[in-house]
Amino acid sequence: MTQKKTIKIPLLDLSRQHKPLMNEIMDALKRNIDANSFILGHDVAKLEEEFAQYCGAKYGVGCASGTDALYIAMKALDIGPGDEVITVPYTFMATVGAIERTGAKPILVDVEPETFTIDAKLIEKAISPRTKAIIPVHLYGQAADLDAVMEIANRRKLFVIEDCAQAHGATWKGKKVGTFGIISAFSFFPSKNLGAMGDAGICLTDDKALAERMARIRIHGRGSKTESIEKGDNSRIDTLQAAVLRVKLPHLDKWNDERRRAAGWYDSRLKGKTGIRVPIVGKNRTHVYHLYVILADNRAEIIERLNEAGIAWGLHYELPVHTMKGFANLGYKEGDFPISESLCKKIISVPIFPGMTESEVNEVTKAILG
Ligand SMILES: *Cc1c(COP(=O)(O)O)cnc(C)c1O
Repeated sequence: MTQKKTIKIPLLDLSRQHKPLMNEIMDALKRNIDANSFILGHDVAKLEEEFAQYCGAKYGVGCASGTDALYIAMKALDIGPGDEVITVPYTFMATVGAIERTGAKPILVDVEPETFTIDAKLIEKAISPRTKAIIPVHLYGQAADLDAVMEIANRRKLFVIEDCAQAHGATWKGKKVGTFGIISAFSFFPSKNLGAMGDAGICLTDDKALAERMARIRIHGRGSKTESIEKGDNSRIDTLQAAVLRVKLPHLDKWNDERRRAAGWYDSRLKGKTGIRVPIVGKNRTHVYHLYVILADNRAEIIERLNEAGIAWGLHYELPVHTMKGFANLGYKEGDFPISESLCKKIISVPIFPGMTESEVNEVTKAILG
């Protein structure tokens, strides 16, 4: 199934965000270019402070990507070879890949069919004496069941690292995601709800010592200019990216509102239609619709009609991580996670983005319904 070449309605139209901000963005870039400020410095420190404050966390540590944010979070918690970390197969591959990169073993559990997030009822069985942490993924823009995950983690003395890459601004019981686990990892990949103009990410925590350690790990484990005091990496957030993100952050809530508005238009037109299931917002949550993902019995036909109409679509995700070649070493097989596997066969992502108009939603729903 391939995408048609001439696209009338894209999955995401970033220029609608960037055009009105162009002067401010250019000024922010120029300020740093004029000052020859490219690594860490003022805009990085301010972004860390402002994004942490936006979420309601104490400390932010910017890094090179969301993948690195997950990795650095685990390294700061001393997770490595011999340890196990529980997460889901129904996620972007980076969640599982970051665990493997620490040397720890990913242990996967299936998701709930309604919210597409970790099924907390399955976590307990997956815990072993080697388990160190649980990584719930707030997929498509809605929180996993954080009460259930935190209850198990607290009782079994496990860390929770939230994968918030798709959920900037989403809430659980009125509190923003990214403030429940000991550390949370966000991505600022350009297509995320808050996106840079390249790769970028951030870790949030309320723990000062952990924040300091993560800030050290991202610069070669340096304790001072001259000495590395522990193993580290080079994973800084670019100062130019931080400067762009600071211009965009004040607009995030409005953009999320506009995503919710478009989702509402979709819901009202698609809900209850035969063979289609619209996204279900679980209780205690506000959804920020990073993606609007429907389940369709006749996906191939819908894709054909979207192609015909010049409407972009996506499959997030076409394969659950445990059936990907790159993760064959984990030893899972088809059939191990039936919910994830069946979702992958039915999901389809349709255009949703800030500034999307009602008439665009009408065009998409017309093509979906045929
Ligand atoms: C995007 C994403 C990541 C990785 O973020 P990058 O910035 O692309 O490295 C991790 N987890 C999830 C769920 C994501 O969607």
